[in-house]
Amino acid sequence: YPPEKIRNFSIIAHIDHGKSTLADRLLEISGTIQKTKENKQVLDNLKVERERGITVKAQVIFTNETVSMFYQVTRNNVGHVDFSYEVSRSLAACQGTLLLVDACQAQTIANFYLAFGQDLKIIPVINKVDLPAADVEKTSAQIENTFELDTSDIKGISAKTGLGVEELFPEIIENIPAPVGDAAAPFRALLFDTWYDKYAGVICLIAVKDGVLKKGDKIVSGYTKLTYEISDLGIMYPHRVSCERLSAGQVGFVTMNLKSTREASIGDTFYKQGQPTELFEGFHPAQSMVFAGLFPVDSSKHSELQEALDRLTLNDASVSITKENSAALGQGFRLGFLGTLHMDVFRQRLEEEYDTPVINTMPTVPYIIQYTNGEQVKIRNPSDFPENISTTKIQSFLEPMVNGTFVAPDKYLGKIIELCNSHRGEQLDCTYISDNRIMLKYRLPMAEILTSFYDRLKSCTSGYASFDYEEAGYAEADLVKVNIMLNSKPVDALSCICHRSNSEAVAKQWVHKLKNVIERQLFEIVIQGSAGGKICARETIKAARKDVTAKCYGGDITRKMKLLDKQKENKKKMKRVAGGVELSQEAFLSLMTDN
Ligand code: GDP
Ligand code: MG
Repeated sequence: YPPEKIRNFSIIAHIDHGKSTLADRLLEISGTIQKTKENKQVLDNLKVERERGITVKAQVIFTNETVSMFYQVTRNNVGHVDFSYEVSRSLAACQGTLLLVDACQAQTIANFYLAFGQDLKIIPVINKVDLPAADVEKTSAQIENTFELDTSDIKGISAKTGLGVEELFPEIIENIPAPVGDAAAPFRALLFDTWYDKYAGVICLIAVKDGVLKKGDKIVSGYTKLTYEISDLGIMYPHRVSCERLSAGQVGFVTMNLKSTREASIGDTFYKQGQPTELFEGFHPAQSMVFAGLFPVDSSKHSELQEALDRLTLNDASVSITKENSAALGQGFRLGFLGTLHMDVFRQRLEEEYDTPVINTMPTVPYIIQYTNGEQVKIRNPSDFPENISTTKIQSFLEPMVNGTFVAPDKYLGKIIELCNSHRGEQLDCTYISDNRIMLKYRLPMAEILTSFYDRLKSCTSGYASFDYEEAGYAEADLVKVNIMLNSKPVDALSCICHRSNSEAVAKQWVHKLKNVIERQLFEIVIQGSAGGKICARETIKAARKDVTAKCYGGDITRKMKLLDKQKENKKKMKRVAGGVELSQEAFLSLMTDN
């Protein structure tokens, strides 16, 4: 296929605006798949992706001898940029995109695609015009205002009934440029997606920019400089179909002797052995921005957890894993994620894969300690944070920042400002994008949006606000360590790094929570919280013996024995947390999950 016959494009839309349905129609009309009842959403392969609304898999369709690559990107209404690097790499594999907007839900669109900063041709399309509530005019106006796109000949379609979908093909062929590439030049390809297949091993999706690739060719990773031999290659149609060669302009899959997806980094450049080429710009290996500890509740299940993690990370090379030892929780792991959504998706997969309970410690962002001698140290675990801050050695602390963009009806302006102010936000910009919709920009510490920020935004705007962010470097911050002590012994799993302004409140909150979950034991328990080395919260639990047999009046000795046995069994499940204090597994779980 000569490049001029190829169109590589993506579909971008909010969740539920109809990407998967349109994808199915396009595949059917082009004859790529048979029209059957079962055709529902062939592109949504992974259950968790469907649930979370992140579908990023490439496919190829054929129309009038035109080969088109076809790529889906979904964002949640409350957007996340966790996957934005990977998304931007996959967009770099296309030359155009269909921006799909639900004719009944124009109010939910945000300007998220701007974040990708790509040189993409965008074709706006209005979907669901078959519905009585469809308002094509209002939707066009909204698209024009939000995206600054010309909507004078915008297409209204129904992905469900197929109305107007066929007419999209000439539109795509005419408006989306063919990829530029030179089949005669040395081979050069962009790696933009990888996953693990049980039978075929690691599958790589590549966009061939120049040259031709054939089975048996030896290619080199520009990043690792490792050489691989191509064992199979082909196109996604919509499943893998092997073919003779992939040439300039095409997007397809390759398999080679990669042992794990970890070996291949998205955004990497491949070239042929002995023919190094210029590398694609903007490459950076995945950077973890959220770290959390993960421990098996039952310590004897450590190796099972390890196996489950190994299996899961075969498919997700962007999760970093190191071993972690906690005095309170025993042996476990410290995982690094791209962001909070990424962490949630991973946890959900883990639950499906491994049904024994795990304890997650509080997520933390990577902080930097700037020493007076010029040295910088990255802290990914609160236990590595200094207890006593020596001002002669430490110059400052730095925390990662984000630039966030909110789009919402203007009546929520006050609420959003209030929310951002209470999360140390600094307003950068506020503009009207239509009669009653505003776009607000804020600079926020990443740590502030880690846990309950999205939920709070949702509840204070009744779900009408969208939020996207991009990483925005590091800024100096007044940080302290919060410690929680039981009988003067710190519980390592509960320590955290906080901004000084809310450190006392955090310490008090933990102490209060602990008081509620710790049962009386044979000795008095003193719970203390400290912020920056100063005790600021204290509670005591009086000593007592819990007499489980008290309710059995005399008589029934076997019942009494049973109860005592039960108590012994429960004892075994207790975790010795610190200072000789025992906490049931359940209590610990509730402590870590109810945030
Ligand atoms: P996605 O999240 O963007 O992939 O959206 P889906 O393709 O899963 O569609 C979301 C819902 O909208 C599904 O229930 C579809 O059946 C429905 N839907 C999609 N397109 C249309 C359409 O043109 N008309 C109507 N009435 N419903 C549609
Ligand atoms: Mg979908």
